[in-house]
Amino acid sequence: MTKKWVYLFREGNTRMRDLLGGKGADLAEMTNIGLPVPPGFIVTTEACNAYFDAGKQFPAGMWEQVLEAMKTIEQEAGKRFGDPTNPLLVSCRSGGRVSMPGMMDTVLNIGLNAETLHGLAQLTGNERFAWDAYRRLIGMFGNIVKGVPRHAFEDILDAYKAQTVGGKDTDLTTDMLKDVVRDFKALYRRELGEEFPDDPYEQLRAAIAAVFDSWFGAPAVAYRNAEGLPHDWGTAVNVVTMVFGNMGNDSGTGVAFTRNPATGEKKLYGEYLMNAQGEDVVAGIRTPHPISDMQEELPGIYEEFSRIAERLERHYRDLQDMEFTIERGKLWMLQTRSGKRTARAAVKIAVDMANEGLITKEEAVRRVQPNQVNQFLHPQFDPQAKEQAKKAGDLLAVGLNASPGAAAGTVVFEADVAEKMGNAGQAVILVRPETNPDDVHGMAKAKGILTQHGGMTSHAAVVARGWGKPCVAGCEEIRIDLTNKTFTVAGRTIKEGDFISIDGTTGEVFAGHIATRPPSFKEEVELTTLLGWADEIRKLGVLTNADNPTDAARAREFGAEGIGLCRTEHMFFEEERRPIVVRMIMSEDEAERQEMLDRLLPFQREDFEGIFRAMDGYPVIIRLIDPPMHEFLPPREELIEQVVTLRCTGADPARLAELEKMLTVVNSLWEINPMMGLRGCRAGLMYKGLTEMQTRAIFEAACNVAKEGVDVHPEVMIPLTSHVNEFHIEREKLEAVAKAVMAEKGVALDYKFGTMIEVPRAALTAGEIARYADFFSFGTNDLTQMTYGISRDDAEGKFLLAYVRRGILPHNPFEVLDRDGVGLLMRWCVEKGRAANPKLEIGGCGEHFGEPNSIEFSHIIGMDYVSCSPFRVPIARLAAAQAALRHEYGRK
Ligand code: PEP
Ligand code: MG
Repeated sequence: MTKKWVYLFREGNTRMRDLLGGKGADLAEMTNIGLPVPPGFIVTTEACNAYFDAGKQFPAGMWEQVLEAMKTIEQEAGKRFGDPTNPLLVSCRSGGRVSMPGMMDTVLNIGLNAETLHGLAQLTGNERFAWDAYRRLIGMFGNIVKGVPRHAFEDILDAYKAQTVGGKDTDLTTDMLKDVVRDFKALYRRELGEEFPDDPYEQLRAAIAAVFDSWFGAPAVAYRNAEGLPHDWGTAVNVVTMVFGNMGNDSGTGVAFTRNPATGEKKLYGEYLMNAQGEDVVAGIRTPHPISDMQEELPGIYEEFSRIAERLERHYRDLQDMEFTIERGKLWMLQTRSGKRTARAAVKIAVDMANEGLITKEEAVRRVQPNQVNQFLHPQFDPQAKEQAKKAGDLLAVGLNASPGAAAGTVVFEADVAEKMGNAGQAVILVRPETNPDDVHGMAKAKGILTQHGGMTSHAAVVARGWGKPCVAGCEEIRIDLTNKTFTVAGRTIKEGDFISIDGTTGEVFAGHIATRPPSFKEEVELTTLLGWADEIRKLGVLTNADNPTDAARAREFGAEGIGLCRTEHMFFEEERRPIVVRMIMSEDEAERQEMLDRLLPFQREDFEGIFRAMDGYPVIIRLIDPPMHEFLPPREELIEQVVTLRCTGADPARLAELEKMLTVVNSLWEINPMMGLRGCRAGLMYKGLTEMQTRAIFEAACNVAKEGVDVHPEVMIPLTSHVNEFHIEREKLEAVAKAVMAEKGVALDYKFGTMIEVPRAALTAGEIARYADFFSFGTNDLTQMTYGISRDDAEGKFLLAYVRRGILPHNPFEVLDRDGVGLLMRWCVEKGRAANPKLEIGGCGEHFGEPNSIEFSHIIGMDYVSCSPFRVPIARLAAAQAALRHEYGRK
């Protein structure tokens, strides 16, 4: 028996997405729950893959199954394919496992030819309609199946439209459409050296092959690359009986969401156009009406559609994105799928649906991707700067608020230019009449998108929302001149290269550059509710990396439960302190060194006091100085150059002596590989007094604020331990200082001493180190560097990203934790560390711990907490909860 390549709608269901594609599986599901879906069938994704495997040949038996299925739908529709008196027409639509908006191809009106055209005209009593359908078929088939440029057909159509009074498609007369068909066919012949195929089955065969081919079309490949989707899924092909929205004023077509996909508001949201086909809405050629208008225009249909929408949402328990057509007063559902939504809508819909009892809190937490939380932290225009721009008359126009967020950049009109400038790090706004899949590469690199035409469901809007990129669409006030690379609006001309600012939240477009600022997290009630639920679920603590009171306070606002890494060296670089640090390093005797350390102490103490206050009630893990000392001194090459110049010119002998002395010190500190040199705990052990000073500052600060009533929990973290003795000796020395300070101040604090695990040897000998440590914190930046033997400062700029591009490495290991290598060390470390010291607390503070995949791993191996930069704290809270919903916690 040959394999089953073709499924009727009634043979499928929503769980068969891998085989039938999302669209087909949901058409099948809708058919089976009794909704009005035109008869049709699905050619499977397996058939697509088999087609490519066989060098673009349909697999054996597939075409016969298509013919069989055509017979069935002929019976269901009561029409026949190619029958001149009662013709059946079909569409051929792509449908991958996940939706790829506008990326794949669709051919409509298959089955029309010079004969069936008359049958259609008679059947509908509408000759004009039949000719219009025919010209659409030739145009789409010519473009999609045969690759004739779309604009060649559009130019012909535009020339005829220009002869009408209204200038729209609908103004073309039947005779004009006949001429359009004649000209389209001539163009087809000229471009391809063959006639347009009038055999309906030849049309169908070629259209199915073209849909398969579109899977590897440039836009689809670019989209999958941008989204990280595999290329071997293949697309299914949906063959669906045509229903027509352009049969007159009792017909129409539209797209709608069960809730607002930009804001999440619970209200039917969408657009429709009377007397039009679906492509007219999606392509943004005519600007459609909001769906709420349908309530007045077609109350019966509106009522029926609302009921179906509600039913679908309850059935799928998620936001639905639906396509429908009204053919002579009868409603047909052409698609439903889980709707793409902005981060804001994702959060609101998840929280609302949980509150409505439609889904559980756990499901709500699962529904939002951690990285979507990022979009809440996206810049908005500074309200004052925006007000000023308005007062200055810079508000140019208001379009549709298609995708929220604010962006400023220079105007570019072409996707290629946007891509190039974006890659060069320039902020650009891509301005287009409308966008289509050919523009995706430029859209990906633009800061924002502005289109003249198209609605909330136009290509530009859908893609921008998916990517969380600001977009203003349908801004009809602007007039774009692509030839001269300008647009005019309100009497002003904006040229390529001029600055504009767009607000995708309000639809406003401004001339000039408006400053942006982050939104207020506290006011995001739904997000904080969702994160509150996440907190109830997660097992991992979420701390933050912060080294000043402002960052600490912001992280608290974002929900951080303490500081997991306070890097103290940043404090040494500040203007007033640097010269003292330099003198400390250069000091010739103990007394001078101590004097400098004594001068640094109050600065450090003050920094710590601010941080402790901001973290009232939470642990603050302070890491002692880590970088090599030479980093505080001028670069060696620079010094050599200055010394040589002064020696040659003989000018300024005093300065020369000073620089020579500095150079001697720098030379003495110079190391071939400083990242593996005298840094971390080694500096603490070798430079007398340095870490003692830091510990004194920490404990004086802690005692001082404790006296103010602040609940302080200082934890001292010793960096870069590789041998137990390093840690053991440092701890003993520093704990004595801590105890002395507490005795002086008469305050007993709850404190800890621990180490970072950044060197493979430390992970391997965790059992020994854990006997002396209260906590471990994985410094995965260094641990990755040392495990891979790849320099973290050089590799990304040199070869690492090429490695990822070429598939040599699955990810950049400095971004996504390497579970197999670094992760193995971490597992070992956790196991041995806890066995030696059951009370040992284990966290991590490398860059990885704000990245969802790495956080999931941290949960699996049973770490106690992750620590990340303040802006990633909300992401980490959600990612940790999702990890808990997916995996057992490693800490028993
Ligand atoms: C680390 O190595 O992961 C770490 C947090 O320390 P730093 O990045 O400061 O070396
Ligand atoms: Mg480190």
